Amino acid sequence: MNVEFFRHNLNETDIDNVTNVLKSIFLTTGDVTKAFEDELSRYVKAMNAIGVTSCTAALHLCLLAWGIGQGDEVITTPMSFCATSNSILHAGAKPVFVDVEADTGNIDADLIEEKITSKTKAIIPVHLYGQMCDMKKIHQVADKHGLIVIEDAAHCIEGERDGIRVGQLGDAACYSFYATKNITSGEGGAITTNDRARAEHIRMLRLHGIDKSAVDRYTKKYKHWDMPLLGWKYNMDNIHAALLVDQIKRIDDLWKKRDAIWRNYEEKLAGLEGVKILKSSPNLKHARHLFTILVMPEKRDAILWALQDKGIGVAVNYRAIHLLKYYQEALKYREGEFPCAEKIGASTISLPLYPSLTNKEVDYVVCNVPCILTSLGA
Ligand SMILES: *Cc1c(COP(=O)(O)O)cnc(C)c1O
Repeated sequence: MNVEFFRHNLNETDIDNVTNVLKSIFLTTGDVTKAFEDELSRYVKAMNAIGVTSCTAALHLCLLAWGIGQGDEVITTPMSFCATSNSILHAGAKPVFVDVEADTGNIDADLIEEKITSKTKAIIPVHLYGQMCDMKKIHQVADKHGLIVIEDAAHCIEGERDGIRVGQLGDAACYSFYATKNITSGEGGAITTNDRARAEHIRMLRLHGIDKSAVDRYTKKYKHWDMPLLGWKYNMDNIHAALLVDQIKRIDDLWKKRDAIWRNYEEKLAGLEGVKILKSSPNLKHARHLFTILVMPEKRDAILWALQDKGIGVAVNYRAIHLLKYYQEALKYREGEFPCAEKIGASTISLPLYPSLTNKEVDYVVCNVPCILTSLGA
């Protein structure tokens, strides 16, 4: 049996939507991008949504829009994809890591305050694997010290905690539509915020800092544009947006399927000797992005390879960021500084999780895990 790590869920409607754009005259950022932005802001209950080319770009633009750059520090987690902290470096600021909770993998809100200095300007929490961080606590700390909160919601577009939707307590939230995310356009990202002035600013920053988009320039009589700011080239085009307009409408159906698979995994793998599963907080809608198991660090790679030998697709999300070569060399981070993140990074294995995964495939994965553990003495 071959169980891929990920299979996307694009259907005929998505393909037709892209075809319609390709048959139209307007390929770049236009009415389809706008339609997707409107659907997204409705779905996450935010006032403004801005489509960009990636979540990395989204995080970068948020930092710029809130004036964060050279000489500033931004607090974030070492248990994420390197995009999170790279965006801080792109803005010219310094990422300051705070260790994670051992049982959830999310940034430990109780450890944030001791890392705040006069240079700290923002916090970027990451809702790891789809579990929202304790945003009430993080918001409290941020408020007390006058810090901006930008949520990395790449895993968590569907998420909610204590009745609070993703992005609602933060100043902005950033999403990813990368190839393996819950909804995807291959590459893509977005920002939501309730700050209207900053949303307008971000709209300019995503397109060179010019004050008129192609739609503005070419509908009706030609209008000259000006460039009051230096921006980037991060605008989401109609082609990518066409892949997303219908996915966002069926996002909760897709979530329900992943939720059922997740519960199935949890039921069958919880309590298994040699396997730990991260905890979910109560009062939570988990976005069910990645299902991970934690195994003995010394045996992790052997288990990964054994799963692959059985035709099961696996991934490691993630080895702790501060242990990556660049972070060790340029930022002088050292092993041992963030023990909980390091431990998760050394023990984690992500299993296949996507709506088209069948019960048979889940059973195949679930029955191979204990066999492999036993045969490797893990
Ligand atoms: C995927 C991911 C990103 C980066 O998203 P891109 O759209 O590929 O830039 C950022 N943060 C997290 C937590 C991610 O998983």
